[in-house]
Amino acid sequence: MIYLDHNATTRPLPKVISAMNACMQDCWGNPSSKHPLGQEARRELAAARAEVGLLLRAQPVEIIFTSGATESNHHVLHGALHRPEMPRRIILSAIEHAGYMKSALRLRQEGVTVDLLPVDSAGRVRLDALREMLQQDAALISVMAANNETGVLQPVREIAAMARERGIPMHVDATQMLGKLPLSFAEWGADLMSVSAHKLHGPKGIGALVVRKGLTWSSLLSGQQERARRGGTENLAGIVGFAAAARHARETLETEAARQTALREALEAGLIEQVPGVTIYGAEAERLPNTVCLTVAGMSSDKLLDRLERRGIFASSGAACSSGGSDPSHVLLAMGVAGNVALGAIRLSLGRDTQLADISEVVATLRAVAEANDAAGSNPEA
Ligand code: PMP
Repeated sequence: MIYLDHNATTRPLPKVISAMNACMQDCWGNPSSKHPLGQEARRELAAARAEVGLLLRAQPVEIIFTSGATESNHHVLHGALHRPEMPRRIILSAIEHAGYMKSALRLRQEGVTVDLLPVDSAGRVRLDALREMLQQDAALISVMAANNETGVLQPVREIAAMARERGIPMHVDATQMLGKLPLSFAEWGADLMSVSAHKLHGPKGIGALVVRKGLTWSSLLSGQQERARRGGTENLAGIVGFAAAARHARETLETEAARQTALREALEAGLIEQVPGVTIYGAEAERLPNTVCLTVAGMSSDKLLDRLERRGIFASSGAACSSGGSDPSHVLLAMGVAGNVALGAIRLSLGRDTQLADISEVVATLRAVAEANDAAGSNPEA
């Protein structure tokens, strides 16, 4: 098997699994209990928070553990609309994660103004459009750090500065960037940040919302945990697994980012040279080291993925979260790609296990698939 779906999820590291096992065996107390078992769990929780903080470059008190980035993003929406002094208007980039986008757009039915910040043809948000939008006040600006489908990086720092100038809270969904490139909540100057552990070889069902110290943000889930900012008994084993993954990412990130960038460049060079009809999206922009979004002329994503899968290569169309549907990707549409073309898009996302031999095999396979498709002409059974 060649697994090229790391933006969907990653294999938990053995050290993550053993840290979680040890936690469930030996440290199963409730961190809110006052007895020694509870206090031991509380210490584990604090140590994990500090470790995750090192990767996020955020202070431990700024970190609220959640069930993942989807939940974190929903806390952001909730909080933005529960600040009576702020207008009922939010600004989101047009390429946010599908689930988040859907919830945000649904708010229109409740009378909230939801403005979508456009992107250019390379998939970068347009700062000129944001400047225009900021003529009017808003309760939130939300722009992801790196897009899950194309890997295109966004100008987070500039956007945070523009938001700060206008006194508008800025949220960044850094789910795809965490563990792939260095990032710093402190230096970005954002107010809120969402992340998830399972994209960096940690467990599923655990993530964090980072809230800048001093900012009060209304809680979606009431309860006294997480300093009353997220109710519910903590998923301690998940949190400990997140911390183990964060530590590994911090220690290996720079070499891994360089290694994957070289692999991605080899992959793209091979595709362009050898695969007839290939187009790569977002190629003119700065991107994550591991992500390639492509189409092969005349082929649907379903057919491409099926042909790859038959040869043991696993990938996804656009966002794994929205695949299975027959709608073209909202990200590619926002970049100006025609709907019928966007329906052919697949995403190859490399990871820590990807080797150069895998890249050669993927290029050779895609070449064979594209040539067979060309040879079959218009025969849909081919
Ligand atoms: N935001 C982005 C950019 C993502 O890629 C994902 C995962 N596909 C999410 C949010 C959702 O994360 P989770 O699975 O932790 O809910």
